[in-house]
Amino acid sequence: MALQCEICGNSITGNFFLTQIEGAIFRVCSSCAKLGSPVREKKDVKPALQKPKPSDRLLKEPLLELRLDYNKMIKQAREKLGLSQEQLGHKINEKPSVIKLLESGKLKPDDLLARKIEHALKLRILIPPESE
Ligand SMILES: [Zn+2]
Repeated sequence: MALQCEICGNSITGNFFLTQIEGAIFRVCSSCAKLGSPVREKKDVKPALQKPKPSDRLLKEPLLELRLDYNKMIKQAREKLGLSQEQLGHKINEKPSVIKLLESGKLKPDDLLARKIEHALKLRILIPPESE
């Protein structure tokens, strides 16, 4: 069964053409192909070069910065809750020496540790950069 040109309705002998007219794609004869812009067949379309990788999603999350006074905040929040450095360390599964270093500003917590502290002390030491 011969294909029909979707523009002029003539039977298409031989190869049909795909052409794009005003955003719509038509299967057309060779003479109607000139009316639109040529379209490559779908099977020939290469996947987009910038295919998002799973890791891109993580990078797009707003980067948070550690507050400069994180050590004071940790100490204050801990004391407000009546916790010793040992107790806080136990709560977040870290050694008391880690808490001591954090509170003296000698150790900057990584994201994971910072979040554990935030959760345990109900405070925010990671903030978006622009809200400084
Ligand atoms: Zn035609």
